Amino acid sequence: MANQDDQFKKVVSHAKEYGYVFQSSEIYDGLSAVYDYAQNGVELKKNIRDYWWKAMVQMHENIVGLDAAIFMHPTTWKASGHIDAFNDPLIDNKDSKKRYRADVLIEDYVGKLDAKIEKEVTKAQKRFGDAFDKEQFLATNPRVLGYKEKGEAILKRMGQSLENEDLADVKALIEELEIVCPLSGSKNWTDVKQFNLMFGTKLGASADTAMDLYLRPETAQGIFVNFLNVQKTGRMKIPFGIAQTGKAFRNEIVARQFIFRMREFEQMEMQFFVRPGTQKEWYEEWKQTRLKWHLSLGMGAENYRFHDHEKLAHYADAAADIEFKFPFGFKELEGIHSRTDFDLSSHEKYSGKKLQYFDPEINERYVPYVVETSIGLDRMFLAVFSNSLQEEALENGTTRTVLKLPAVLAPTKAAVLPLVKKDGLPEIARQIVDELKWDFNVDYDEKDAVGRRYRRQDAAGTPFCITVDHDTLKDQSVTIRYRDTMEQQRVKISELKEIIKKEVDVKNWLMKM
Ligand code: ATP
Repeated sequence: MANQDDQFKKVVSHAKEYGYVFQSSEIYDGLSAVYDYAQNGVELKKNIRDYWWKAMVQMHENIVGLDAAIFMHPTTWKASGHIDAFNDPLIDNKDSKKRYRADVLIEDYVGKLDAKIEKEVTKAQKRFGDAFDKEQFLATNPRVLGYKEKGEAILKRMGQSLENEDLADVKALIEELEIVCPLSGSKNWTDVKQFNLMFGTKLGASADTAMDLYLRPETAQGIFVNFLNVQKTGRMKIPFGIAQTGKAFRNEIVARQFIFRMREFEQMEMQFFVRPGTQKEWYEEWKQTRLKWHLSLGMGAENYRFHDHEKLAHYADAAADIEFKFPFGFKELEGIHSRTDFDLSSHEKYSGKKLQYFDPEINERYVPYVVETSIGLDRMFLAVFSNSLQEEALENGTTRTVLKLPAVLAPTKAAVLPLVKKDGLPEIARQIVDELKWDFNVDYDEKDAVGRRYRRQDAAGTPFCITVDHDTLKDQSVTIRYRDTMEQQRVKISELKEIIKKEVDVKNWLMKM
């Protein structure tokens, strides 16, 4: 655990030191769970968003984009169920006065059982060596099965109690499991209460005529209320999708873990409208397609897993998360939800407007079913950033800190470095920058010894360094150094663009899907 904490602390401090993420309003001691993206962070975030947009919108003839407003008519949230049901169960510890999400306390308890299973696996692996069959071990070892059954039973009971709004049982479960407050170590808990996560605000100048509004807690509703507008003006035929990226706001009870859980964050959502009865197939299809998108970034298949939901949201008939191995363990990165016709039907009811589609293939009119893919951009940022940050032991006994961002996402693609600040080398380096900047974000750096500049670019995540030296004056060649392998090659200046393009081109990465 200490190791995980250390690794996570490194991620947070590295993000600040290299201009990726700052705390919001830092000069006023910050604002809890709100963050700003700095010069490098804003580029990484944009590249992730583009990578998603290209894969979802540009590569699908039947998916189009939308950018709906953050403010929506307040009845939207009545119809969507958010006013009545967008709650988290909270519990306070009377000794530490700390507030927790009751479901998270229980999930963390189950997480510890999972960790015990992993320990058993490691132990057995050592004992059996090459003959070890993990699958078989997991399926037959009595201790593992015991932990697994216990974990499943706990989650099932919690899911049912939350579903039935039986908050007393959620508290009873916490007491039976003897869960203690991580801070005070005490079991002195209050009752569990529901807490609505939406931020309210007002529209209008005078107090008596002002209208109560909410900051949207998800981008999806902007898509639902525009469903028919887009379908008609785009002459879309079912199945088709509408994609949107944008800010969402949630008054999270416990917002820790840096940009993993924020009060203001960005979502990338796609609502896919399908014929009723086909939602199961599309749900499975989108689960696989989205997983492939993640895998295309080469961050290790072992770092992803599906988690099927026990407790379904009020709108869903099936739901799964793609979980990622963050520095603090496997956690939700993206949700894939089969949302039925809940949202569209409900908007029909509340607005009195039909939100139906006439399907010429079967000669029927119906309210479409919806399969949604929903990923947090900030969470994806954290996944990419934390996975990329590595300490490497070098042959000469030193270590280097390197941010091995997938090159397609790196904020700066190349740094151009004149070996010395004289003899015309800076001028050539500047010319290279001027040429490359039409196609890529490039950096110019002439300060310090070249070795230190390499280290600086490694830590900032720049995939290529291009060094201009005295030979460049004679033969128009430069040294290109690869961040991940530290390999160096002599190449012509005229070849640079193609070499970099091959490595950072979205197409080459998405083709791996
Ligand atoms: P969680 O269980 O972690 O609260 P959720 O199941 O409520 O998440 P969804 O409503 O499914 O999340 O939202 C879709 C995606 O939006 C999540 O998979 C996550 O990546 C992202 N997300 C949700 N809440 C936050 C938040 N507070 N900060 C950052 N990202 C978030």
